[in-house]
Amino acid sequence: MEAPSGQRQRRLEFGLVSVSDLPPPAASTSSADSAPSSPAVARFGGGDSGVAELRFYRDNGASDVGGVELADAQIFKLGPVQSICMSEGSETNKESYSKGFNIHFKTEEESEAFHCTFEQLKKEGSIKGTRLPNGVLSTSKCKFDDKIEASSAKMYFHYYGQLLHQQNMLQDYVRTGTYYAAVIENRADFTGRVVVDVGAGSGILSLFAAQAGAKHVYAVEASEMAEYARKLVAGNPSLSQRITVIKGKVEEVELPEKADILISEPMGTLLVNERMLESYVIARDRFLVPDGKMFPTVGRIHMAPFSDEYLFVEIANKALFWQQQSYYDVNLTPLYGTAFQGYFSQPVVDAFDPRLLVAPPIFHVIDFTKVKEEDLYEIDVPLRFIAAVGTRVHGLACWFDVLFNGSTVPRWLTTAPGSPTTHWYQLRCVLSQPLYVMAGQEITGRLHLVAHKSQSYTIYLTLSTKMWGPGAEQGGILQTSSGKLDLKEPYYRMSQPQAYTIAQDQQPHQLLQSQELNVQTQDIEETDLLEQPAQNSGAHFS
Ligand code: SAH
Repeated sequence: MEAPSGQRQRRLEFGLVSVSDLPPPAASTSSADSAPSSPAVARFGGGDSGVAELRFYRDNGASDVGGVELADAQIFKLGPVQSICMSEGSETNKESYSKGFNIHFKTEEESEAFHCTFEQLKKEGSIKGTRLPNGVLSTSKCKFDDKIEASSAKMYFHYYGQLLHQQNMLQDYVRTGTYYAAVIENRADFTGRVVVDVGAGSGILSLFAAQAGAKHVYAVEASEMAEYARKLVAGNPSLSQRITVIKGKVEEVELPEKADILISEPMGTLLVNERMLESYVIARDRFLVPDGKMFPTVGRIHMAPFSDEYLFVEIANKALFWQQQSYYDVNLTPLYGTAFQGYFSQPVVDAFDPRLLVAPPIFHVIDFTKVKEEDLYEIDVPLRFIAAVGTRVHGLACWFDVLFNGSTVPRWLTTAPGSPTTHWYQLRCVLSQPLYVMAGQEITGRLHLVAHKSQSYTIYLTLSTKMWGPGAEQGGILQTSSGKLDLKEPYYRMSQPQAYTIAQDQQPHQLLQSQELNVQTQDIEETDLLEQPAQNSGAHFS
């Protein structure tokens, strides 16, 4: 292959200690041993079709051992001087790798140089528009890199590469305990099955799946946490034989076989923050057999208007600093408006009392088994509520739940207010202009979420009160309030004295009673919505 311009000095040939065929996973392991160990050569070049390929030769280049197209090939390090190169099967047999080579390099430096060339040429080849293994024509190697800013991804995976953040999630016992119960109670869905753990982190869900009898679990993790996951898996020898940790993005890595079931914890604040649901859906399309299972299966975003005078005043007051006309003799007021807007553009994350809700909640369903990745770029939810009380509405409260639709016991993981608190807490979008409502009055509006390149969403919220009483049939809008918020910049309010103290000027009897909340959520196994929350367990990625 002709080297691309600017790359003419790149080395395309590597002398090897040896190369041998690798049997496909189901075949015997003896053929690798039978391959002679003779000086060999690896050569990058353009094949007949002009597609970038890698070919291996034995006897110092005399006999052709075989080759792979780079676009379909993956390379894995087995050790400092040993790697395997695998290529996906033919059109008709995509379920397994048809070819594999065991490569023995002369030195560690040679191995490094080879890997580097391999990855670069593979990337260049696919940028020109090569077919991706998932059957999608793409002009780029990885969808993730196209839509997410590199600086955001770097910070994101750095965050998850740290054990303390994985520990935070592990210590959220509502979260981890529900996953454990969902897997163990539905072992029939795992026993003897191939599982992919999408974003495995510490590997905890892979270990659960293996405990439930999975035949094999592929734990895919993009951050440095993959190394720790390997250690954790290795330290559990009764399970480790059935778990393979693969470092890389689910958008990029290749797996040797299809999965019967995916397990993942891709939920962020408001369910969609971090945009990992998109990776979960991409993993579904790339790895899951048709009609395979997904744990979790569906997610729901719940929404209801709330009234919280204390919270409103707290936020409005933050900007008061900028109303000083003589701060060390400086007039700060030119920035008051900007500061005021800025504080109201932060969604508030904390645990609040469900009695602050003004109307029964509604929900928006995302079916992970069916949703298209693109559907998650923009989420538009029309809002309609009937106020249960007369009060001032300060904004929209949101939370989510997910369903593990196990064939033995379906199970919900909920982050609802009043349910045991999780590290996701709940989220409230506070409007700078409160609305007045009477009991029975209709509140309409729209929640419009638009994904952005920093792995989060811009939130556009509008709430309006409709005409009420004798003039209601005319259907006019009395009052409208709108806000634009950035889900990436939440205000974590946990350190504030809050949550379960109800403001004295809000009489609980006026506010929504718990029974009314249950009307909308009775299909969830959450009996006591007013239960006190557990200890906070630390913030999620923000
Ligand atoms: N499954 C673990 C970790 C959940 S946090 C648990 O339940 O405890 C989500 C993890 O997914 C993080 O470790 C993050 O690095 C990883 N991740 C996010 N997007 C990914 C992607 N596109 N490919 C691979 N891993 C990803």
